[in-house]
Amino acid sequence: MSQYESEIKEAIEKYNAIGNEEGKPCNLMDYFDGSAAIKEKVISAIPSVKQKEGVLYGCTTLELTTFLEQPETEELYEYVTGQYSDGWGEGFEQQEIQVGDGEIYVHFWQSGDYEIQISDPDYQQKETEMRRPKMQLVGQDGNVFSILARANKLLQANGQRQEAKEMIAKQVSESGIKEPKNLEEQAISLVGKTIYEKLVKGYTEKQWGKKAIELPAFIIKRLPVRFIYDNNYFNDSYQGIPIGGYTKIIEKMLNGIDVKLNYDFFEHREELENIAEKVVFTGMIDKYYNYKFGELEYRSLKFETEILDQSNYQGNAVINYTDYETPFTRIIEHKHFEFGTQKKTVITREYPDNWTSEKEPYYPINNEKNNELYEKYKELSEKEPNVIFGGRLGQYKYYDMHKVIEEALNCVKNEFN
Ligand SMILES: Cc1cc2nc3c(=O)[nH]c(=O)nc-3n(C[C@H](O)[C@H](O)[C@H](O)COP(=O)(O)OP(=O)(O)OC[C@H]3O[C@@H](n4cnc5c(N)ncnc54)[C@H](O)[C@@H]3O)c2cc1C
Repeated sequence: MSQYESEIKEAIEKYNAIGNEEGKPCNLMDYFDGSAAIKEKVISAIPSVKQKEGVLYGCTTLELTTFLEQPETEELYEYVTGQYSDGWGEGFEQQEIQVGDGEIYVHFWQSGDYEIQISDPDYQQKETEMRRPKMQLVGQDGNVFSILARANKLLQANGQRQEAKEMIAKQVSESGIKEPKNLEEQAISLVGKTIYEKLVKGYTEKQWGKKAIELPAFIIKRLPVRFIYDNNYFNDSYQGIPIGGYTKIIEKMLNGIDVKLNYDFFEHREELENIAEKVVFTGMIDKYYNYKFGELEYRSLKFETEILDQSNYQGNAVINYTDYETPFTRIIEHKHFEFGTQKKTVITREYPDNWTSEKEPYYPINNEKNNELYEKYKELSEKEPNVIFGGRLGQYKYYDMHKVIEEALNCVKNEFN
């Protein structure tokens, strides 16, 4: 059909103009009765055709006020393809189109496939800068934050904003906890018993493989407590990963520097210690000292990754599962970090795992016993002028990405004044 592209386009233009104000082509959005968010975001959807690699495709030009989420793109795709087959297209296929050697009628055939072409060259950049990936907390009985937030919204609408806060404050004061000695007490003193039991207890115990009363209080300070409608896991205004991922940053930083991968420090200790005046060591500090005071404990993880033959799985970069019964703590859907529009999707389920020496030590377990042991190693490390112990394993400390980067930058400043 591609040889008739210009005739078909012309026929579409004529057909689109029928019954419309002059200069205003048929807008498929005028007939859209789907979700309100799409109606707000899509100003117009003008049907036409476009040639790609010798094949003529149905093509709809969208004018948007802002970015579409993946499920919205899909809903819109369903609607537009429906229009091509049963609505707009049904009428258009009755139109006789004159071509050089006779006339043709055009019917749109659905392949179940679509591709998005963006005309604004800065779209990707703008989109990534303006949006943050969704990272939600989900409990077995629904999203606990959104249940609370909805309740809170209702109370606010009734002029009872204070009641939501008071409900928690009452539980907190009833607990009588003044100086929390462990995670359970800390959580109850922050959010009260109901939220603790619904949201915190199961998640934390499966994450750490320990009872909440055996864990230190400070871990729970990472959980945000809010009284607004927002079920995002973190409070930070900027959330997500750097554009293009961390690998790009690391590649640029290491440009022109010799790199050896899969090269264990302990297997090549002598060579590596003598290679430079100063060594930055980011491995396990207890192993560095040959476990002379004893072994520190770590927590490991197992990852289960699947490629799914669907464009969207959960509409979120991260969904955390707060109940004890679901064996994994979260599911990552990687494409949503960069608002990908690929046809398939990759998901990773993250299972907490006991650590043994053959496994990756992902998290230090900062309880009293381990912290005391680490202090002994730290004392030794401070006596080594030529080694910098860095990061989660070198300093036996949980770091978020932005914190570990800040720490590395501070370390560089100190070293080079
Ligand atoms: C599953 C998981 C999810 C996370 N999610 C988030 C999140 O959502 N947000 C956030 O902000 N942070 C998150 N973090 C934390 C973040 O990943 C860490 O803070 C960060 O990677 C720590 O950087 P680091 O340099 O201390 O350690 P690493 O990134 O682990 O670097 C240590 C390096 O030392 C190397 N090394 C160790 N031992 C040896 C050896 N013997 N020989 C040679 N090389 C060795 C390792 O191979 C590694 O490359 C997460 C961490 C994990 C494990």
